[in-house]
Amino acid sequence: MGFGTKTWREIEFNDNLFKRQKKRILGLTFPATDINLGLEPSILNVLPPGDNVEYITDNRLFNDSDVEYYACSVYISGYDEFTKWATQHNPKKIIVGGYHPTTFPEEFERYALKIVQGPCDDFYATISQEGQVVRGIISNKNLPRRDLYDIYRNQQIIPDKMPQDTVVSINTSIGCNMKPPCDFCCTPMMCDKLLSKPIEMVENEARDLQKYSPKFIFIRDENFTMQKDWKSRLRILHEILPDTRIYLFASANTLNEERIRFMSTHGVYMVCLGMEDPTVTYQKNSILPKVIELLKKNDVKTYLSFIVNPLKIIGKKAGENFYNLLTERFKELAPEMVCGNFLMPFRGTKLWDEYYAYVSPEDYKHYDSKTPFLVRNPVLREKMKFFMFWYQWKYYTSDFYQKNVRKFDSGDTLHLRFMELYNHFKIIYERNWNIRA
Ligand code: SF4
Repeated sequence: MGFGTKTWREIEFNDNLFKRQKKRILGLTFPATDINLGLEPSILNVLPPGDNVEYITDNRLFNDSDVEYYACSVYISGYDEFTKWATQHNPKKIIVGGYHPTTFPEEFERYALKIVQGPCDDFYATISQEGQVVRGIISNKNLPRRDLYDIYRNQQIIPDKMPQDTVVSINTSIGCNMKPPCDFCCTPMMCDKLLSKPIEMVENEARDLQKYSPKFIFIRDENFTMQKDWKSRLRILHEILPDTRIYLFASANTLNEERIRFMSTHGVYMVCLGMEDPTVTYQKNSILPKVIELLKKNDVKTYLSFIVNPLKIIGKKAGENFYNLLTERFKELAPEMVCGNFLMPFRGTKLWDEYYAYVSPEDYKHYDSKTPFLVRNPVLREKMKFFMFWYQWKYYTSDFYQKNVRKFDSGDTLHLRFMELYNHFKIIYERNWNIRA
């Protein structure tokens, strides 16, 4: 059977030829994605439809003549890697976006055709705007390009996740409405409004995720429960993925008993709350203890993140005071998971004003939240990393945790990761510091 004067075989052949002739659009992230850790990269939300689009994990060099565009997401700690890569490619083909180009566009002028500020999910509409520096356009038309990435590599360090369990993630909104914003947080710099995805888009995405049979889904929204219709969103996700355990970020001030009960009956297995710096009181955390008590009552786990300001813990006494206070808070709140990050001063935040005089491009590589920022002494830097690990380890292995929270030694990714860290620090500790734990 023919189509006009052409046979199906001819049409297919011409179609394949056309595909081969289309130039490539390559998505890259700087620093390069560690494909065995974390989640699928956010740039999959930016990449356009089409079979000429690829996601590249190793940031190798390419022949510019085959490529139409390089879509590069650049985070602060990847700036150096990006500039080395970019100087070997045609800047007229490079589009940059992400936190660093949003806040420091001037640092990308010589490397890129377009510098995209803020979130973006419509690649062509965004780059067709006039000027070198443009705002990202969100049109909510396209599904994230998960087909370009091996989702089964996703790992998350969380309680009860076994290494072979599949985790996926979804964004149902972007940005945050908190006024004034928390002084350390860079989210409002990327998007200072809460922009919800149309609910039918959330539904389409959830249906698309069914094919992975995920054991866990992480709702990546900065503050899911800040959305007026978050319950409808949660209900849809739970209906479409009824056997998938959901975890999400929320701020304590958006939760109460009725909301927590709703979460518990709609698949929510864990809520991630930021305690932040235990020496500072944040507006969003005034009811944190009450909220954690309600989560426990409703069988929802708590993931409690905290921030360590390295400049506040210099000296034995200051360090001990800080970590003693932190340990007291752990015992008071009894979260299933704790996670520490070193404070990083982001441009555009209130904190930046205090720090920017000390931050230079050589410091960018330390913006990974696991390195104590602005601490130049390498021995002190390593010790600070160790103590951040050590107080979490002590909590997980304490009698208190086993009796009142859960069994740590379970072979899940949380346990395995902490064993890895323990073995890593044990070697350094015994070899270099000659101190007994
Ligand atoms: S920490 Fe959370 S609540 Fe505070 S500004 Fe950032 S996203 Fe908003």
